[in-house]
Amino acid sequence: MENITASEIAGFGVGTLLLCATIAAPRVDTFISASQRSSLGMCTKCGDLKLIACSTCRGVGSVKEGGLIGFNFVDDIYQSLGGDESGVKTTPCTKCRARGHFRCPNCSKSQ
Ligand SMILES: [Zn+2]
Ligand SMILES: [Zn+2]
Repeated sequence: MENITASEIAGFGVGTLLLCATIAAPRVDTFISASQRSSLGMCTKCGDLKLIACSTCRGVGSVKEGGLIGFNFVDDIYQSLGGDESGVKTTPCTKCRARGHFRCPNCSKSQ
């Protein structure tokens, strides 16, 4: 039953991360690094979007019940590929109150 090699696992992990970055980056993050942001005079935390994606629900506003993080990643990919979400219980994210984002503390301070 040793069909999966370590390199396959690593490859899957990297692919998963890339895919998750593509899925989750979306609304709030702009793929601009903090150093680029500061050199552009942008807020290093939010890139002048005034919002920061919630790390708990990854900007979705809800979290799946009873799943391990690893399984949630797989679920996300599955759903992004058109999978059926039924059967997966979600609860509103308590950290961001189901909004999926916070106000940027840096920006709200200066304004
Ligand atoms: Zn949240
Ligand atoms: Zn900011």
